Amino acid sequence: MTPTVETKNLCKSYGNLQAVRDFTFKAKKGEIIALLGPNGAGKSTLMNMITGYLSPTDGKIFINGQDIFSFPIEAKKSIGFLPEGAPLYPDMNVYDFLKYMADLRGVTKEGLKKAIELANIENVLHQKIENLSKGYTRRVGFAQSILSDPEILLLDEPTDGLDPNQKEHMQKLISQMGKNKTILISTHLLDEAEAICSRILVIHKGKLMADGDLKHILQQTKTKSLAEAFKKLTAGKGDK
Ligand code: ATP
Repeated sequence: MTPTVETKNLCKSYGNLQAVRDFTFKAKKGEIIALLGPNGAGKSTLMNMITGYLSPTDGKIFINGQDIFSFPIEAKKSIGFLPEGAPLYPDMNVYDFLKYMADLRGVTKEGLKKAIELANIENVLHQKIENLSKGYTRRVGFAQSILSDPEILLLDEPTDGLDPNQKEHMQKLISQMGKNKTILISTHLLDEAEAICSRILVIHKGKLMADGDLKHILQQTKTKSLAEAFKKLTAGKGDK
């Protein structure tokens, strides 16, 4: 099966800083992958490159086997993205923002309704985005990311700022959607990675330090918990 997402020797530098270094991985449909790493490890930079929002300094990205830079429109149609932070257009109300994004992507009224329902945001549709709480802001961003029911979902800290009930709701939703999609989430919550992800990538100083299921990561690091493994993998200079 052709991987839905593939990166080959992906690099991104900002001046002298190598934010992502030689990052190679493949993901396929049905996988929910956690991207774990300390602050500044390169998680958002990696996701921003995979969505085509940021150009790599070097390396390749393939979406459904096609080079993202040769076929940017096809690639972007397959991807939903929840970036870090708030959605754009803070002075729009929630419904107008989502309707606008839906129209841009040719999403039907039913598609828009379903995204609103799944994100559980019916009660804030007429509020301005800038006045929303952090949790609701994330949920509006999430609704935006699933509007077109994309086969690939990249979620940058999807449960950041959510209350415990909403966190559970979001985690269940991600688990459910992951059966028919490829989902890559970045998170600082190790229990979240363990609970909903079938595979874990650990990134440190831009480098891929470990890639596999929990059992594999514990074996590789000779540790007994993901917390211990994470500490070990992110302690050094980023060289394996
Ligand atoms: P966090 O967990 O804190 O969100 P992260 O793993 O997502 O961190 P990135 O945001 O990808 O990390 O940042 C990786 C490195 O690149 C950091 O050192 C950051 O300061 C740097 N960086 C990110 N964007 C830029 C930019 N536009 N210009 C210069 N440096 C940048």
